[in-house]
Amino acid sequence: MPIYTYKITCPYCSHKFEWHDGKVGDKIYLHCDICGKELLYPDDEESLFPEYPSCECGGWFDKAEYWVPFVCPKCKEEIEPRMVRNTIEVVKSEDE
Ligand SMILES: [Zn+2]
Ligand SMILES: [Zn+2]
Repeated sequence: MPIYTYKITCPYCSHKFEWHDGKVGDKIYLHCDICGKELLYPDDEESLFPEYPSCECGGWFDKAEYWVPFVCPKCKEEIEPRMVRNTIEVVKSEDE
C-alpha cells in the first residue's frame, strides 16, 4: 500500500506541515480530529468498530477512510483540500 505525504501550507497561518496517509507495515496513520497530530497505530481489519486511542488534547485519533479535513498543527484550523489545491504537494512512496 502506498503512503501519501501531503505537503501543506496552512492558508490561515502559513505554517508548513506534512500530513501522511497510508500504511507502514501493519500500522496505519491516524490523525487526531482536533489537533491533527499523527499516530502510527496497528491496523485492525478484523473489527468493524475498532477502538482508537484518544489524544492528549482531548480529541480522538481516527482512520481517514472517508474524507477528513486536514488540521493545521499550529493554529488547529481545519483546512479543506480545495483551499490548498494550488499549493499542495503530494508525494507518493511505497511501503518497504
Ligand atoms: Zn495554521
Ligand atoms: Zn489531538
